Amino acid sequence: MAEKAKILQNIAEEIARCPLCKKGGTGKAVPGEGNPDARVVFIGEAPGSEEAKTGRPFVGRSGKFLRQMIKEAGLDENEVFITSPVHYLPLRGIPVKESIIHGKEHLLKQLTIIDPDIVVLLGNTACLALLGKKAETTREHGRTVQKDSRTYLITVHPAYAMRFPAGKKQFTRDFEKLRKMMKPFRP
Ligand code: URA
Repeated sequence: MAEKAKILQNIAEEIARCPLCKKGGTGKAVPGEGNPDARVVFIGEAPGSEEAKTGRPFVGRSGKFLRQMIKEAGLDENEVFITSPVHYLPLRGIPVKESIIHGKEHLLKQLTIIDPDIVVLLGNTACLALLGKKAETTREHGRTVQKDSRTYLITVHPAYAMRFPAGKKQFTRDFEKLRKMMKPFRP
């Protein structure tokens, strides 16, 4: 296994063994998956029930929608990395701040290894974890933030986009922007 893949595998095992990640959560650990050399990383919120069953990120209804949008943005599913700050299905549905703050430590390690150019923040939890502040993604979506030599693109969570027609429009517009942002990284 190549060096980066091996380190990411070690981080995934660390997550699966971590008692703090498990606190307040249930099911299988969902450490994230994808290409170790991804130029784009997608960050969600926390696993849902399908993810907790399989241990894979974004494989439920909103995950299928996200993966379809990734394809439509001209990206191959195998060339991106998909992860989240919280690695277990939260017992109370939405993750508590404590889990986000803790889970972020593992997430930052993943980002350091992958070293992507673009990080897509899917919803408020991803913004809180990586920009360190509460963002209202329904208002701030489409905005980019430059930080640590990376570009963070703020968008709404795919579950929100699926649920509300206005959210779907926002999400679609942001993925159009992502397609344009990817141009310099295309051969
Ligand atoms: N929602 C997320 O934020 N992450 C997943 O893996 C699934 C649903």
